[in-house]
Amino acid sequence: MGGRQERPDGDWARTANRLEELRGPAPARPHDARAIAALAANPGCARRALLDAAGVDKDTAARHVGFPAPFGQSQFAITRGNAFETLVKENGCAELLRLLRGLLGLPIEQVGYQDVENVGAHLRASHTRALIDRAARETETAVFYDHPLLSLRIAGHTSYLEPDVVAFQLGGRFHVVEIKSFAVIDGQAEPDKVAAAARQAAVYVLALRTLMEELGHDPERVSHDVVLVCPENFANRPVATLVDVRRQLAVLRRQLARMTRVDRLLEGLPPGLTFSLDPDPDGVPTRSAEEVAQALRQVPARYAPDCLSTCDLCMFCRDEARACGSTDLLGRQVRDQLGGVSGMEEALGLAEGVREPGEGQEEIAHLLRQAERLRRECVA
Ligand code: SF4
Repeated sequence: MGGRQERPDGDWARTANRLEELRGPAPARPHDARAIAALAANPGCARRALLDAAGVDKDTAARHVGFPAPFGQSQFAITRGNAFETLVKENGCAELLRLLRGLLGLPIEQVGYQDVENVGAHLRASHTRALIDRAARETETAVFYDHPLLSLRIAGHTSYLEPDVVAFQLGGRFHVVEIKSFAVIDGQAEPDKVAAAARQAAVYVLALRTLMEELGHDPERVSHDVVLVCPENFANRPVATLVDVRRQLAVLRRQLARMTRVDRLLEGLPPGLTFSLDPDPDGVPTRSAEEVAQALRQVPARYAPDCLSTCDLCMFCRDEARACGSTDLLGRQVRDQLGGVSGMEEALGLAEGVREPGEGQEEIAHLLRQAERLRRECVA
């Protein structure tokens, strides 16, 4: 991961002020683990990195400019998810303990239970720190921590994360527990949903390991095996599975390390640029949609089809990529294979031989012509 980047206070203050200007008067929208997992999925996108660092509400921005994202949970799904989480955690996580006894072979009858959510919002991060520190020292006691508040440095900016569940500690090991409401049917869950849950859980593991390191404990005591709890066969009966997130952790670390530092992104912005969604008394942004859209276009994006399932601005960026005929629309793999050819028109011109390849484009032009010849043969 990026790790803590020490800089003089003056620099931090300047960066924080500029990010506040970008966001406008609305409160910063905190990152959750899903947002970080998605951010790491597209580390080359300056637009997203900047909006997230400034805490801009991307969902409101996308709606305001007329491009709402096609995803989001229905109220029914949210209610169902909350009911399932309550069931797993009621009576001090009694059901969770039953599941973990089987899954981890725990030889224990009872565990402690700490509801970190009941502590005032401003104290939760420090309270979580103190609890984890104590747990790491008193390795004989098993404890569930409900809604701890962890933090992670993202592109030079601190993001606070709230595992919707718990870190469980026994014999010196911590396990992150993720409760999800998608069903496991006959031992199988939808691979996309499991993968998204694993990416999200990896963010919590990384944040907890970072905290352990800061507290002077061995970060490896946070297990890479996360416990995924889901309802089984459409009933509400929970079932737990261990998911190894080592691969997701490695990807996350690598991609966070590669992320452009936010102060460098700020340097290249036009003076006075803001994404402010300053609302009127009815909560409607006071700036015109076109003004906000223009501001968004000032920051380069790196659209890829994956954005459609991970970023609130996906429809806006897709429309922009379409309008300029960008090869980004074809996905990262094709875009990377096309090397320096960034436009569809350019790629088609090279493929059909009606356009002379520029310097360094000879090889890709040759490949495109070959592909076009094969396509014609197949069609014929
Ligand atoms: S949708 Fe747009 S802003 Fe979001 S990650 Fe994709 S390109 Fe970046």
